[in-house]
Amino acid sequence: MLPKYKRILLKLSGESLMGDKSFGMDPAVLDHYARDIKEIVDLGVQVAIVIGGGNIYRGMNEAETGIERAHGDYMGMLATVINGMAMQAMLEKVGVYTRLQSAIKMEQIAEPYIRRRAIRHVEKGRVVIFGAGTGNPYFTTDTAGSLRAIEIEADVILKGTRVDGIYTADPEKDPTAKKYETITFQECISKNLRVMDMTAFTLCMENNLPIIVFDMNTAGNLRKVVCGERVGTLVKS
Ligand code: UDP
Repeated sequence: MLPKYKRILLKLSGESLMGDKSFGMDPAVLDHYARDIKEIVDLGVQVAIVIGGGNIYRGMNEAETGIERAHGDYMGMLATVINGMAMQAMLEKVGVYTRLQSAIKMEQIAEPYIRRRAIRHVEKGRVVIFGAGTGNPYFTTDTAGSLRAIEIEADVILKGTRVDGIYTADPEKDPTAKKYETITFQECISKNLRVMDMTAFTLCMENNLPIIVFDMNTAGNLRKVVCGERVGTLVKS
């Protein structure tokens, strides 16, 4: 099957890497993600990835940690680099060429983020992993994902989650909840459906970047999404 999208940005949360663990990452999950990503690279899709850091550290819990917000946010950004390095290792293991680019300079382990260079990498079939979020505190990796997707002119941002799309209500609490196949940005706002945080969501809406929310934990789903099959929920103008 031919891919529908030429260039995608895949956003994975840090927590998704944990699998059934309560902290850190599960090598089996990383291996499964790496194989799914390889499948779409082999189809000729250009892939960039942003991974969160929530499985290791979140900056916003100042009350809990006693560490001031901005300082903690930088710690959270470093956590995303650890996850990015892990994903990089697993991708290379299954035969995918990768580059890690960091928004915070750390020359020994990652290239600095350079937009034009990132585009060249994906054009050459290398998967680019963007680490350290936006490089700024008070942002999230969802925002980093939206920003980088727009910068590299990705066709779509794919938000891999544990649920298979956007529902009218929380499907775990409300058995009558129905899944949307397609929904507009405006509807998400008027129905108060939180797809991403507002900064990330607004960036996508203003720049006409579609979002697909899908279940990344089902093997093969990523390929289905990039081939345009009806998986997950598509958010568009
Ligand atoms: N973070 C930040 N700026 C960014 C991206 C991330 O300050 O541009 C920090 C923030 O503290 C956040 C943490 O890194 O809580 C981990 O990222 P996030 O919570 O987005 O990860 P996810 O929820 O996707 O695992």
